Amino acid sequence: MLDVRPIRAFRDNYIWMIRSARAPRAVAVVDPGDAAPVMAALAADDLRLEAILATHHHADHVGGVAELVAATGARAFGPARERVPTAVERMAGGATASVESMALEFGVIDVPGHTAGHIAYAGHGAVFCGDTLFSAGCGRLFEGTAAEMLASLDALAALPEETRVYCGHEYTEANLRFAMAVEPRNSAIMDYVKRAAALRAAGSPTLPSTIGLEKRVNPFLRSRHEDVKSAAEHRAGRPLPTAVAVFAEIRSWKDGFR
Ligand SMILES: [Zn+2]
Repeated sequence: MLDVRPIRAFRDNYIWMIRSARAPRAVAVVDPGDAAPVMAALAADDLRLEAILATHHHADHVGGVAELVAATGARAFGPARERVPTAVERMAGGATASVESMALEFGVIDVPGHTAGHIAYAGHGAVFCGDTLFSAGCGRLFEGTAAEMLASLDALAALPEETRVYCGHEYTEANLRFAMAVEPRNSAIMDYVKRAAALRAAGSPTLPSTIGLEKRVNPFLRSRHEDVKSAAEHRAGRPLPTAVAVFAEIRSWKDGFR
């Protein structure tokens, strides 16, 4: 199992720091939007940054990449179809991001929707999915269509149920409030509301989640479920014949949900 720890950044971003048994002082980080907290974490434990994995071009995910590469010489991987502010090894679906010195290998999955070239990294029983899949939610559609995002979420949902899900933000409690509005009778959501509240009260992240949990609580992975479909149709005031139409309705409902 990977040793993965959060480095908090900005208001609610997580920069995930990965360690491996192979090289105890070496680390990789995912989506370093800010270099300073990463440099502090490296210094605190005398760690060496070997690699950076970036999921998409938004500044709160890649803003620290150039500074970290300059300071540490780390390799940087990023999305092939997006412009990020420094040279990266360009990765697209089907490729493998390998960090040989740490014996790490991540398969790259194309997950367009939030941004046009967003990628996720899956391996070692974990997936780093940036702003595509959140716990109990999903990213906003800034550059892609509902059909693209649904296909991207389907690709993530196809990972093994026990896969640990490392998202880019701590949005779980707000997402669960919306999930309750969509499916007020879903007991898995109610259980998770309590667990998430306890974790947050203790100052802990709610993440990682798992693919299995997300399939039970995340309305955006449940567009084909009868209760989600009927809630979406009730809000739309018309039949929604396809999973994409249901997904699009839920996504726009969430965009205005407070
Ligand atoms: Zn983003």
